[in-house]
Amino acid sequence: MKVQTDDRPEDFGCADCWPPTAADAWEARRTLSQVAELIDESHFHVMILACPRCTQHFVSVFTEMIDWADGDDPQHWTVMPISQVETVELIKQRDSLSETLEALGSGRRCLRRDHPKGTARHVFWGTGLNIGPHD
Ligand SMILES: [Zn+2]
Repeated sequence: MKVQTDDRPEDFGCADCWPPTAADAWEARRTLSQVAELIDESHFHVMILACPRCTQHFVSVFTEMIDWADGDDPQHWTVMPISQVETVELIKQRDSLSETLEALGSGRRCLRRDHPKGTARHVFWGTGLNIGPHD
């Protein structure tokens, strides 16, 4: 039986764009350049980014829930490395993107940044793309 090795974290990116710690990876995200913008809604923003050094592509998903009680809306970011093939698929499926995203890279390591209501924001490693609720 063939062992699936496609999703090992070391297969993605370089030391610049996908460093060992989540905090560094979040900092590195700012150095990535935008390849494509797939969804640009005020509370749901999906784009494809690329590392200027190794050309690794990443999908970046931002969601926000509007809490009408006050202005401190919960916000979530997910950044996951994707292959060139997946980049092409995502751009092709722009119109039914939510389902495509949910199925993408199941079990693959991704970077998450949460800013839950009323608490400090934190950055951590997660797996797969879990598109949270959003307005
Ligand atoms: Zn890189």
